[in-house]
Amino acid sequence: MKIAIIGGGPAGLYFARLMKRHQPAHQIEVIEQNPFGATYGFGVTLGGPARERMKATDPEVADALAALMHFNNKQRICLDDEDVLVEYASYGGAIERLKLLGVLQKACLDLGVVLHHQRRVDGLSAFAGYDLIVGADGPNSVVRGTDPAAFGTHSYSLTNPFAWYGVAKAMKPNALVFRHTKDGVFVGHYYAYKSDMSTFVAECDAKTWTQSGFDKLSDPERKLAIEAIFADHLQGEPLVENKSIWRTFKVVVNDRWFSGNHVLIGDALRSAHFSIGSGTRLAMEDALALFDAFAEHGDDLAKVLPRYVEIRKPIRDLFGVATERSFNWYENVRQAMSGGDVWDFTHDFLTRTGRVDDKRLKDYAPSFYADYMRRKNADARSAAVQ
Ligand SMILES: Cc1cc2nc3c(=O)[nH]c(=O)nc-3n(C[C@H](O)[C@H](O)[C@H](O)COP(=O)(O)OP(=O)(O)OC[C@H]3O[C@@H](n4cnc5c(N)ncnc54)[C@H](O)[C@@H]3O)c2cc1C
Repeated sequence: MKIAIIGGGPAGLYFARLMKRHQPAHQIEVIEQNPFGATYGFGVTLGGPARERMKATDPEVADALAALMHFNNKQRICLDDEDVLVEYASYGGAIERLKLLGVLQKACLDLGVVLHHQRRVDGLSAFAGYDLIVGADGPNSVVRGTDPAAFGTHSYSLTNPFAWYGVAKAMKPNALVFRHTKDGVFVGHYYAYKSDMSTFVAECDAKTWTQSGFDKLSDPERKLAIEAIFADHLQGEPLVENKSIWRTFKVVVNDRWFSGNHVLIGDALRSAHFSIGSGTRLAMEDALALFDAFAEHGDDLAKVLPRYVEIRKPIRDLFGVATERSFNWYENVRQAMSGGDVWDFTHDFLTRTGRVDDKRLKDYAPSFYADYMRRKNADARSAAVQ
C-alpha cells in the first residue's frame, strides 16, 4: 500500500510510525512544509490516560517521550491578587514540541518511513497514484480544503485574541493568571516543560483588545505590554517568541471524516482549543484510532475508514462539547471574573466544560474539593446563624 501523509505534526508522524511498524512493506511518506528541526510553539502536554494508551500500542515511542517529559500535578489559579493552588489526582506530562516531533521523526526514520521536509502541498494531483492520503496538516488543512463540501466542513473564528510565547525558565508551579487592568481583562497561562523553559499563552477578550489599544500595537509592542501586565509572575524574564503572532482561534468541525481515499486526523479534522490542553493527545489518539481500524481490517479501505469513524467519533464528539464549553467560558471570561471570590471562580473554572461535576471533582482535584466544600459549609453555617 502507498500512503501519503500530508503534515508532519504529532498526528501525521505518529500514524506513519504505527502503520510502518505494523506493515513494514507499506510505502509511507510524510510531507511537511517546515524544515527539519523547526516548528511553532513551545511545550505541549499529554495527560496520563493518553500516555497509557500510547504505551500499550508502541511502548518504545511512549517511553522515549516519557523520558523527555516534565511531570506536574499542581496549578495555581490566580484572580488578580488572590490565588488557590489546585492539586490534581493525575499528572500531566509536558514536553517541548520540537522534542516530541524529534522522537516521532526518529521513530519513523528507524522503520523506513520517508520524511520530506520543506515541501508544501498546495494540491493533491501529485498523489494520484497513492492508495491513501491522510490529511494531518493542521487547522488550515489543504487536504480538507480540496473538497470542503465532501467533508462537510464548518469553521468560524473565536473573538479572543491570543499569542503563544515561551519563558526561558521553569516557572513553578504552573499557573493560570486572570487579571483586571484599567483597560480590561487579560489571561496568562504558563507551565514548565523542561528544567529551563516554560510555555506562556497570553489572551484577552475582544473588548480589551480594542479598549487597551492592543489592536493598534505591533506584535513586538504587544509582547512588551504582556510582560508589563504579568511582571510579578515573570519576575524580570522576557517572553521568548517563536512565530508568536496574535491571532484568534479557528474552530473547525467536519461532518464527514473521509472522502474517497482521503481521511482527516488531528487538528485538520477538528481543531482543539488550547484551553483544554489536549490538542496534541487528541491528534495522536486520532492516529491511534485510524491505525486500530487498519489493524482490524487489513488494507480494505471500504471497511477501515468507516471503522475509524466508529471507533473515534463518540469520543471526539464528547470532547467537542467540552471544548466548546471551555472556549465559550473564555470568550466570556470578563463575566466569569466579575464574582471576585477566587474559590468560587476556581470552582467555576474547573467545572466549566461539564466533564467535571462536583462528584467527579472530588476525585479529579481532591484537596481543592475538600477545602472548597469546607468553606461553602462554613459560609452556609454563618449565614444560618445571622
Ligand atoms: C497557543 C496554543 C497552545 C497549545 N497548547 C497545547 C497544550 O498545552 N497541549 C496540547 O496538547 N496541545 C496544545 N495545543 C494544540 C496542539 O498544538 C495541536 O492540537 C496539535 O499540534 C495538533 O496536531 P496535528 O498533528 O493535528 O497538527 P499540527 O501540529 O498543526 O501539525 C500539522 C503539520 O502540518 C504541516 N502542514 C500544514 N499545512 C501543510 C501543507 N500544505 N503542506 C505540508 N505541510 C503542511 C504543518 O507545518 C505542521 O507541521 C496548543 C495550540 C495552540 C495554538
